[in-house]
Amino acid sequence: MLKNKKVFILGMARSGFEAAKLIASDNEVLITDMKEQDKEQLKILEQLGVKFILSDNPIDLLDETYDLLIKNPGIKYTHPTVLKARELGIKVINEVELAYEYINKKAKIIGVTGSNGKTTTVTLIYKMLQEAKKPVWLGGNIGTPLCNFVKDIKENDILVMEISDHQLCDMYDFKTNISVLNNIYEVHTDFHDSHERYVKTKLKIFNNHTKDDIAIINYDNKEAVDNTKDINSTIYYFSKDKQQNVYLKDGAIYWQKEKVVDVKQIKLKGIHNLENIMAAISVVKLFDVPNKDIIKVLETFGGVEHRIEYVKTVKGVAYYNDAKATNCESTKTALNSFNEPILLILGGLDRGHSFDELTEAMSNVKKVACYGETKMRIKDYCDKINKPCEVFDNLEQATNYLIKMAQKGDVVLLSPACASWDQYEKFEDRGDEFKKIINSIKE
Ligand code: ADP
Repeated sequence: MLKNKKVFILGMARSGFEAAKLIASDNEVLITDMKEQDKEQLKILEQLGVKFILSDNPIDLLDETYDLLIKNPGIKYTHPTVLKARELGIKVINEVELAYEYINKKAKIIGVTGSNGKTTTVTLIYKMLQEAKKPVWLGGNIGTPLCNFVKDIKENDILVMEISDHQLCDMYDFKTNISVLNNIYEVHTDFHDSHERYVKTKLKIFNNHTKDDIAIINYDNKEAVDNTKDINSTIYYFSKDKQQNVYLKDGAIYWQKEKVVDVKQIKLKGIHNLENIMAAISVVKLFDVPNKDIIKVLETFGGVEHRIEYVKTVKGVAYYNDAKATNCESTKTALNSFNEPILLILGGLDRGHSFDELTEAMSNVKKVACYGETKMRIKDYCDKINKPCEVFDNLEQATNYLIKMAQKGDVVLLSPACASWDQYEKFEDRGDEFKKIINSIKE
């Protein structure tokens, strides 16, 4: 527990707010943020004796009198204030690492990381454990920040955590009992500056492990397997292709040679989701969750919001919202999840990235509607591969056009392959807008 320390919180957001609340009574706390904050939250902090300073250049506020800097995970390791903290010998951690100080060490911690599939996998694990009536909590990069409820976690409770690479950056003592590594792809290098640094960060999910701790790893992802050869954990693999601890064979998922579920019972779409499901089964079998509870979840869970989320079917046309797809890799995954002809909406923020990566998955796509900053580059790309493509200013126009063009048996898919920030504050907003349009179609 933190006591009598002088703590500098860089970046408020929800995690900074909860971190401050957790430590305020025993420590001197300052929070800085470049953006105006919610008045109610500031009032709560003020009552707890936490000082808030609005500043886009907080470097001068930090000096050697501070003991600790708690950094928002979105802030880069090269931020001038972070560099100054390191120069001054001030330890830099994040909200999860702080919460770990307070956690009941007899609780079981499950951490899930990977380039893709984290949210889906943790949600599956959480739901399966809940179905089996286990005392389970969900936290990390999903839902409520851990600092908010860490003190309520009891001995033998289970905490399922989604852990992003941004969060792993500033972890030291944090340790899971079970860590899942879904996959490693070439993404996020802008934050880490190199793929090598990104991989090294991901591997911190196995920090402090001994052979009593468990690593669950995707056997089919070469980067994940090759980079974990030397970890101390006991490794369990899952695989679509090879008979491992959990595996896919003849249209069913098996755990240690026992059939758990037939693929046709599973509501989630896409082969990538079979990987997430196998990861989840690998975990929950360690807690003796019976197959009937696993099956119940898989029969009913249609996906996390905005991830190849089924919206509805109107006149034989099925509408799917994959607003979370902010890069080509994710859009490719979505395209590969359907056998039906697809009418696809692409577009958003222009990071200068190429769309060529989509080509091998574009064979089912009948028509593209594009919008946003990238629209002309998408049009050029579609012309190059001979795909019909119409250009629009915004998502609403693109969606309405495809609603008109769709025929019975088609899928209309929003999977934009670009970030949303050119027209939206967050990807959820474009997904919500798409769903609103679809839900208002007259049947
Ligand atoms: P994350 O939390 O890691 O961003 P999500 O579960 O939210 O992952 O899924 C985001 C998108 O990533 C999905 O819409 C899908 O396109 C893709 N995806 C999900 N799981 C996988 C997987 N196991 N392998 C490859 N891509 C995946």
